[in-house]
Amino acid sequence: MPTTGSGFLLVLSLSFLLCSGLDALRALGDRSRDVADAAVELNASNFRSFLKESPLKFAVVEFFAGWCPACRNYKPQYEKVASLFNGPDAVHSGIILLARVDCALELILVPGVCAIDDVEVVDEMNIGDGEWQRVGVLTGDSHGVLLVAQTNTELCGSFSVSHYPMLFWGPPKKFSAGRWDPKKNNEIQLIDEWRTADLLLNYLNKKIGSSFTLGDEKYENENTLARNASDPAEIARAIYDVEEATAQAFKIIFQNKMIKSNTRGPLIKFLQLLVVHHPSKRCRKGSAEMLVNFNNLWPSDLLSMSSQETNLLEDGDTSTNYQICGKEIPRGYWIFCRGSIKGTRGFSCGLWVLFHSLSVRVGDEESNLAFMAICDFIQNFFTCDDCRRHFHVMTSSISEPLNKTRDLALWLWSAHNKVNKRLREKENELKTFDPRFPKILWPPKQLCPSCYKSSNENNDLENIIWDEDEVFKFLVNYYGRTIASLQEESYLSSSKAGLSPTYDITPSNAVVVPVGAALAIAVVSCAFGALACFWRTQQKTRKYSLTTLQRKTWN
Ligand code: FAD
Repeated sequence: MPTTGSGFLLVLSLSFLLCSGLDALRALGDRSRDVADAAVELNASNFRSFLKESPLKFAVVEFFAGWCPACRNYKPQYEKVASLFNGPDAVHSGIILLARVDCALELILVPGVCAIDDVEVVDEMNIGDGEWQRVGVLTGDSHGVLLVAQTNTELCGSFSVSHYPMLFWGPPKKFSAGRWDPKKNNEIQLIDEWRTADLLLNYLNKKIGSSFTLGDEKYENENTLARNASDPAEIARAIYDVEEATAQAFKIIFQNKMIKSNTRGPLIKFLQLLVVHHPSKRCRKGSAEMLVNFNNLWPSDLLSMSSQETNLLEDGDTSTNYQICGKEIPRGYWIFCRGSIKGTRGFSCGLWVLFHSLSVRVGDEESNLAFMAICDFIQNFFTCDDCRRHFHVMTSSISEPLNKTRDLALWLWSAHNKVNKRLREKENELKTFDPRFPKILWPPKQLCPSCYKSSNENNDLENIIWDEDEVFKFLVNYYGRTIASLQEESYLSSSKAGLSPTYDITPSNAVVVPVGAALAIAVVSCAFGALACFWRTQQKTRKYSLTTLQRKTWN
């Protein structure tokens, strides 16, 4: 795409906008285009990281050139397929990522006060006369110079792109290695049947054993891959839903302005639990950031003001933008917790998985505190009225503190089964159940045969005699180790490639202090309750800078 003189002038005159980064550019791009592309456009600066962190099992990457007329004509075909799989409105989200890379990408780096280190954002800007110009926003230490650069040449070269378009198939994590060698038999394959949307979809159906069609409509996804809730490997993918549920829970809290003087304490306790025991590293990091900034964001004196006064102050409130698990999350779709019918599963499933994951990660000495933190969180912040009422009834019948990890994990498991049992009857009566995911007493025999001591001769599931030692062992493995196994895979491949892992696979339970942990985290790793102490000290003295804490803990 040639750079025109008028284009340069326009870009220069708009350079002030670029300093505000992504939002300004996105706004520019969005205003001028009605429908966003479904395929994700990647470039040299985000290709590896984006694919490495993708929760999906499969990816298609199209390498094209912006100037190539055949590629332009092919775009609507590719988009038809991409819109089935990508984005929050996709019929079959959470399975295949469709991405594209423009090998002829020209990037204008804009001068001005923006500092330069690396390209952070690439987008398109309408420069008039129906022409679009690619623009990059830069961050870092040095100042910008105006230049036009071919940014993706090297990336396309490392995939041996010899003509346009060229499409590849493989697991996202394999793409993240950033190369393809046609002579080597590796997991990335060149797609030969791609010329129409039908051909490409046929290819994908063959690859994953599905029978998707271009006419599939949202939530009528009877053709989706055979999902088997009894497959132990499925839970590994639940890590993404645990992140999604965490992000969504906090989004609800912020949007509904649920942090008040009486709910502040329970939220702080829950955050303390998350900092140490959330199975996702980026949610642990975000929770710690939130905790350290808590007093600034939600000062207790402000929360005790009258609602009129707080409303006045809330106008400039930035706390609602807080993304506890990082800026990519929530993604807007579910993977392990995806229902086959609209309105089923999703958030509440993700929350259960989060609570079970927490329950097996805490140490004996923390278990009762963790139990109270979870219960208070449910009572104060889970906005399903029936759910919290029923849950409260169950907690009220506990006569002794849950002094062991085993007590907590088994109590939560049994409470969840009571909910399953009640809902099974209700959903059967009202016909509101998801046919693919009926409520069962869990775990089913296929998942854990040893959990069953016996059931009566008619195979009556109501009268199961559980072997609780085996159930506990199973829960620890399922919600403790297996849920982290995907990250383990990505950790192993990234460490082989000399890259730093996205997730800390170190089990975050009390007996293992995260590698490289700073004093604060070392302390809280002994018992998350100790974080309260640290937090109070920190809030009083403000001696601990967040940046120092982050650098020490997560780098
Ligand atoms: P879920 O029940 O959400 O389970 C998610 C996953 O957890 C399952 O796929 C399975 O892999 C695993 N699992 C299932 N059972 C167990 C178990 N016993 N132990 C460990 N893991 C298990 N809905 C209501 O209508 N009424 C209520 O009173 C109610 N109370 C709730 C209380 C809480 C605390 C929560 C988090 C949710 C509650 N819900 C309630 C929602 C309901 O329990 C389900 O989450 C929702 O119906 C979606 O069901 P699901 O099929 O996705 O499976």
